[in-house]
Amino acid sequence: MELTRRHALAGAAAIAATPLLPSTGAKAAAPPADKQAPSFYRYKVGDIQVTVVSDGRNTFKLEDSFISNARKEEVNAALEKAFLPRDTFTSHFAPLVINTGGKLVVIDTGNGAVAKTNSKGAYGLFAENMAAAGFDSKAVDTVVISHFHADHVNGLLAADGTPAFPNAEVLVPATEWKFWMDDGEMSRAPAGRMQGLFKNNRNIFEAGLKKKVTPYEWGKEVAPGLLAVESVGHSPGHTSYVLSSGSGKVFIQSDVTNNPTPFATNPGWHAFFDQDADMAEKTRRRVYDMMVAEKLLVQGFHYPFPGLGHVVKEGDGYRVIPAPWDPVI
Ligand SMILES: [Zn+2]
Repeated sequence: MELTRRHALAGAAAIAATPLLPSTGAKAAAPPADKQAPSFYRYKVGDIQVTVVSDGRNTFKLEDSFISNARKEEVNAALEKAFLPRDTFTSHFAPLVINTGGKLVVIDTGNGAVAKTNSKGAYGLFAENMAAAGFDSKAVDTVVISHFHADHVNGLLAADGTPAFPNAEVLVPATEWKFWMDDGEMSRAPAGRMQGLFKNNRNIFEAGLKKKVTPYEWGKEVAPGLLAVESVGHSPGHTSYVLSSGSGKVFIQSDVTNNPTPFATNPGWHAFFDQDADMAEKTRRRVYDMMVAEKLLVQGFHYPFPGLGHVVKEGDGYRVIPAPWDPVI
């Protein structure tokens, strides 16, 4: 260890002392790019094609209140262990476009056009990445929503407030619909985040979509091969999906965990965004134990792009092993 470190330091010193780069005048023929490549990734589940389309990522300051039952220093330790920066948290966003053969289906819609402007292009990128992947939003038959948080529903509207998928039927979990559209629930919502979510949902679904949605129940197919399954806690009607075709199967977990580091590694941590934190933890452990036992492929909305992998048990928690990028579909 010491030998390696000494060599590395000596190497660094040598580089610093040697003028390898001319100090003036030299420029590469091509200037450095100022933009990331369009982020989409395709794979097949039996005969069904899945395209993971990135909506970008949001990096924000780690507050003391981020996890109600863990100290900020414990969160920092978990981040450092995964070679992630201290004092910030990054949430990635990955909606899906699924071509079942007969239907073009979108699952969740990202943060939307306003967020793209406000975040200076860090997130709210679903529409542009979807176009880059060759999809026309007018060709989408069905939009399936997993739950009513802004990062999943705001992309339902275009920048001008009209439906972003004008020809699509919008399917929403019946329990989620009932909760967020209930005036009594809204009047009892605590100030701050919850009231903000109610206001946002009323804007999206009443002002924007004029309540033109179709509520769906758990245990039923919402599109060919796409089974909706209950996974509540994160929100009252939070839904995951099993997509299957032939011998292919993937579990689309939605927000059972957020970024697996630190939330799969620490399934007992109660983050501010889980509405019923005890229930969310119960669901998380049940779903992850099931994925481990069945060796299921999992697709995570908040996993680092493209968000596909497998889960193994590790200590009291779990580890997500990302699936290798396959250049062949
Ligand atoms: Zn989310």
